[in-house]
Amino acid sequence: SPILQASDLQKVYGAGESRFHALRGVSLDIAEAETLAIVGPSGSGKSTLMHVLAALDRPDGGTVRFRDQDLGALTQRELDTLRNREFGFVFQQFHLDEGASVMENVAMPLMVGRIPRRDRREAVLQALEPLGLEGRIDERAGNLSGGQRQRVAIARAIVNRPRVLFADEPTGALDQENGEKVARLLFDLHEQYGLTLVMVTHSGELAERCGRQVSILDGRLSDPASTTMEGAR
Ligand code: ADP
Ligand code: ADP
Repeated sequence: SPILQASDLQKVYGAGESRFHALRGVSLDIAEAETLAIVGPSGSGKSTLMHVLAALDRPDGGTVRFRDQDLGALTQRELDTLRNREFGFVFQQFHLDEGASVMENVAMPLMVGRIPRRDRREAVLQALEPLGLEGRIDERAGNLSGGQRQRVAIARAIVNRPRVLFADEPTGALDQENGEKVARLLFDLHEQYGLTLVMVTHSGELAERCGRQVSILDGRLSDPASTTMEGAR
């Protein structure tokens, strides 16, 4: 069965005059260890869909299931725990604490997890290793280049060994060379750990490297044939 299953998702922002219907009945199955790109024009609902799938935001209608568990049935605390253990996040603007060290940034998800304090540095080193940044562990995040900062953000996203990595325009703030490096690292992590990759991207090139693309327009998936498991690689 799919690792994530969205059915008839609705999301409405605001109220009255400013009410905006951002998701209008989105259904989508995501298979374990697949790579999925969510594409579409600006404002079409890509980030909203990703946030709802990733339990960063709750839908106003419809359901999201993770391994057959209805996320809508969980308390906020249960949801936070599940997200911390099972999901990793990478955003366009890195969202690092620039004044803190690489160690402190990457260890952030471990603070609420099961890993005892004395094992944290080792866990952080393990996350940094595939990203080629072990040597920078004690550096201030703000001293690193954009490409390096995004790699630190990826290390933070994988330090808890999640099953799904959500990436919102992961290469959007990077130049060609660093964007390519980050893209390659994401697909390497997929290959190496069987991580499920769900990414939102404007880059056709990046989307084409994913096993499957779904296209969203005005809050609806525009190609229903591509939304079921049959379309998955
Ligand atoms: P995309 O990621 O495709 O650019 P988004 O999911 O960010 O699209 O946004 C979809 C629509 O919902 C846009 O019209 C956006 O302005 C609106 N929207 C997003 N977040 C909010 C919010 N917090 N409050 C009100 N409207 C929002
Ligand atoms: P972008 O604009 O690059 O798409 P946002 O700035 O909209 O990304 O961030 C999306 C949301 O995710 C925000 O509400 C933010 O607070 C939250 N967020 C940012 N970083 C993390 C993280 N590492 N883990 C969980 N949530 C995060």
